[in-house]
Amino acid sequence: MSEFDLKERFGSHLFDDRVMRARLPEDVYECLRAIRDDGREWDPAVADVVAEVMKNWAMELGATHYVHWFSPMTGVNSGKHEAFIDGVEFGQPLLSFSGKMLSKGEPDASSFPSGGLRATFEARGYTTWDPTSPAFVLGTTLYIPTAFCAYTGEALDQKTPVLRSMQALNKQALRVLRALGDDSVISVRPNVGAEQEYFLVDKEQFDRRLDLKVCGHTLMGARPPKGQEMDDHYYGSISERVRAFMRELDEELWALGVPAKTEHNEAAPGQYELASVFSSSNIACDHNQIMMELMRKVALRHGFACLLHEKPFAGVNGSGKHNNWSLSTDRGENLFKPGKDPANNPRFLLFLVAMIEAVDNYADLLRLSATCPGNDDRLGGNEAPPAVVSIFLGDPMVQILDALAESHEVHNGERRKLLTGVKSLPLVTLDDADRNRTSPFAFTGNKFEFRMVGSSQSIGLVNAVINGIMADTLRGFADQLEAAQDKMKALHEIVRQSWLAHRRVVFNGNNYSAEWAAEANRRGLPNLDHMAAAARAFIEPKNIELFTRTKIFNPGECRSRYEILLEQYIKTVHIEALTMLEMVDRSVLPAALEFLGSISRSAYYAGKRGAECRAAARLVHRLSDAADEVDTARERLVSEIRALKEQDPQKLADDWYAIRSGAMAALRSACDRLEEQVADTVWPMPGYSELLFDL
Ligand code: ADP
Ligand code: MG
Repeated sequence: MSEFDLKERFGSHLFDDRVMRARLPEDVYECLRAIRDDGREWDPAVADVVAEVMKNWAMELGATHYVHWFSPMTGVNSGKHEAFIDGVEFGQPLLSFSGKMLSKGEPDASSFPSGGLRATFEARGYTTWDPTSPAFVLGTTLYIPTAFCAYTGEALDQKTPVLRSMQALNKQALRVLRALGDDSVISVRPNVGAEQEYFLVDKEQFDRRLDLKVCGHTLMGARPPKGQEMDDHYYGSISERVRAFMRELDEELWALGVPAKTEHNEAAPGQYELASVFSSSNIACDHNQIMMELMRKVALRHGFACLLHEKPFAGVNGSGKHNNWSLSTDRGENLFKPGKDPANNPRFLLFLVAMIEAVDNYADLLRLSATCPGNDDRLGGNEAPPAVVSIFLGDPMVQILDALAESHEVHNGERRKLLTGVKSLPLVTLDDADRNRTSPFAFTGNKFEFRMVGSSQSIGLVNAVINGIMADTLRGFADQLEAAQDKMKALHEIVRQSWLAHRRVVFNGNNYSAEWAAEANRRGLPNLDHMAAAARAFIEPKNIELFTRTKIFNPGECRSRYEILLEQYIKTVHIEALTMLEMVDRSVLPAALEFLGSISRSAYYAGKRGAECRAAARLVHRLSDAADEVDTARERLVSEIRALKEQDPQKLADDWYAIRSGAMAALRSACDRLEEQVADTVWPMPGYSELLFDL
């Protein structure tokens, strides 16, 4: 692809600024631009004009349908495809796409998770066009990004809270900047770049495993002789077949204006990563949804199944999603850029301590935002951050803040050069601090990288939370600054006090170590190690107050989202348990018993011919013991499921958690031991070695 082709291709199917400027009347364009960039209110006058132009543009690209594309709480974007045909006259279709069709849709709200907000008889819900995220044409459909709300105005989606949180953050960050004398700034917005990890497996093998098809991850599988211990997959050479997949994925994403950039092999065999260039929070969320959807689709064209689950295989690394986050002004300044002399950059230090304070006060909300059933298997698995939220700042920044708080001098050391000992290599200037890959929330020079997020999750809630807790902390700072006579003195005092009160959440060491778990406990940092426990943060009074103050969720929405999370957990684990039992009853045990029969016959006939075949006799015993163990574990699981009672969702979720980590884990181990005894020609599904190494 030449430079020309790449430029032509990029955004070719996106109704972006270029298209709008070229095709819309000037006043309509300006109105839309101001809604998008300057926080101007929605103006219904533009809808009809935009709709007509958008339809014509989309039809030139081959679109025959449009969809109100929205992000319900299932995590997967949805929408129904409607043809532009609006009647027939003299045998000819009448085409129409009005401003109303663009702005408003009416999906049945009772068919999506609402956590009690919508009963079946109160079905009305609305999708409303989000003019801040550009529409695009994919296949023969025009996709219109929309927010999804109930008749009563409550948010039923991932997008609305992000938009609300961006408004809150913009308001409070502007107050702070203006209190510090900056009158020219118009808006402040969060930027997000998501790094997406995923696995590819061969589609034919995928189809032969019920667990992969139904649950998206394996529920059993004996460890292969080689996993990832040789570290030979990370950044390794990408196979031709996988490369072809990545190439097509890039081209599809580029056409939709998603700036897919960095791709490489990840640590586990069969695992990969794709990161796109950051953009405004709301658009980044849409980009990530598009990316996940296209990964699944394009994989199928290449004979792969794409696994976005957080832990598809036990014993090798799971997949996450790093949410890189920063704040910038409409002038393009990054408020987290330390500059050459961070110790004398008061505005930077103020925003920095605001983030630290926000994380310390709302660590439980951050943990909540990274909660999904699959992430329980990943967090703390010595490959991903633990469930305790802390911040990595790096020693130089800690020294600066300590010095400031304790009123002693700090010297910014000279930037050092990288000494390789080879004269021909470039002299690279070193970063201020080394990297810390183990930290859940790391300051990486001019942005924060939140690494807890699960690979399958929408990044909607994560960003609503980060924006919201930052907005609320800045609100407190703005109150103090606005009231102060001497702004710089007040700023200094805020930074000092905030740092002293919240530095306990900063930890620059190894977050995977047992010492940190103990230390975090001593520091009183919350450790919510599974989804059912983490979900409760949604109904903590302090968090409901935060969400109400920032207008991101009202108390009813907090409650409903809490219930949706519990329901999701309960249903997911229930399905996992039933899938496991079906696999055990209908393939694992039948195959093992048939194999036992054939080995028993071999032993018997060998004996009849005077050969005591020890190998066969011993295998018969081992097989029979292993099969019995599976049977016992199966009985335990069945009886524990039967004993579950109808009860309060939190208690039911806690019970399912106990089953998942007890009876289901035991059944899995028993199946894995049985798999080790059965010939792979007989075992009814592909094993880990085939799944992980055959690409
Ligand atoms: P890593 O070293 O963590 O693997 P990558 O280069 O793969 O880093 O990804 C870094 C991500 O951070 C990219 O999505 C990039 O666009 C994003 N990013 C870079 N600068 C910023 C910023 N100022 N704000 C938000 N995201 C950013
Ligand atoms: Mg990263």
